[in-house]
Order: sequence, then structure tokens, then C-alpha cells
Amino acid sequence: MSIPRTSDPRTSDPRTVDPRALAQATPAQEVVGHAPLLAFHRLTDLLWPDQAASAEVHWQAQGELRPVTGGAPQTWLHLSVQSQPTLRCERCLGPVTLDLAFERDYRFVADEATAEIEDEVSEEDVLVWQRDFDLQALVEDELLMALPVVPKHGVCPEAVPFSVVDEDFIQSEAEKPNPFAVLAQLKNEGKKGPAK
Ligand SMILES: [Zn+2]
Repeated sequence: MSIPRTSDPRTSDPRTVDPRALAQATPAQEVVGHAPLLAFHRLTDLLWPDQAASAEVHWQAQGELRPVTGGAPQTWLHLSVQSQPTLRCERCLGPVTLDLAFERDYRFVADEATAEIEDEVSEEDVLVWQRDFDLQALVEDELLMALPVVPKHGVCPEAVPFSVVDEDFIQSEAEKPNPFAVLAQLKNEGKKGPAK
């Protein structure tokens, strides 16, 4: 006997969202959530060390059941994400706060093999349907991809006068890990599937 599940996707945990239930809901429903930016652990190495703890990530997700002629309807998910992460400017090495806001569309398919084939030829991202889909991990994946590889101010704040820059500071900056290597590593980890 199966355990009864909540019929209202809005009340579900963002780590266990059923995309099909969300798409089938009438009237249409939206999953709305937010979490501290620092709770997205795969991002924290890329952020400014003194990232404000109050900075948040907000997201909204809507499902859609799209009719298909002569076939079963497709399950879609439309995701919007907003956040203002602070990163290190690669030009002046000071903090730069970005205004990130983006939307993504996903189509769910039954299995990994279908997803791999169809993702290559589809404009939308193709994901494997699971009843307990981890929406928060998807938000984290998308934030990782959305962060600029070389964060920069549009116009950097006035440069520090040369006399204030000391050799030790320059030396300690040179010893920090290459942010590109860190990002590449995180992106690779992201490809292994959502972190649980
Ligand atoms: Zn700058």
C-alpha cells in the first residue's frame, strides 16, 4: 500500500517536487521559494568571503502539461530565479554584487537514455522525471552556470593609491587558487546530477 501524498505541490519541500503533479494541478499552481545564498554550498567558494548572510535566492516554478498530437502530453517546468550574489571583481579584486535574474524551460522525459538523446536536439533542457525531483538542486545548478566566469564591475571603484599596496598583499593574492579551476571543478561535479 502506498503512502498518501500531498495533492498540493505548493506545500511540498523544494527538494521533493513532483513535476507532473505540478503540471496537472488545476487551477494552475506555482512553487515559490527562497533560501539564503550561503545555503547553496556548491556556490560558496565562488562568492566574496564576506558575502552578506542576508543575501537570498528566490525562485518560482510553474508546471505545464503540453498536449501532443497522437501521444501522451509532455510535462514542462518553467523556472525563474533571482539573486544578488557578491563575487570578487577580477579587475580591482574588490567585491562586486551582481543582479542575477533568469528563466529556464525544462521538459521531462521518462528515462536517462531518452533525456541524453533529446537534450542534444532540443532547445529546452531535457530532464528525467522523478516524483521527488530536487528543485533546489536544479536552482543551484543554474546559479552555478549563470555566474560569470570573470566577474567584473562595469566601472571599478576608484583604484587604491599605489603607495598603499604592499608586497605582502600582492603575494597573498597570488597564492589563492585559480577561480577558473575551482569553477570548472564545480561544473563537473554539477554534471553528476543534483546533490542530495
Ligand atoms: Zn572592480
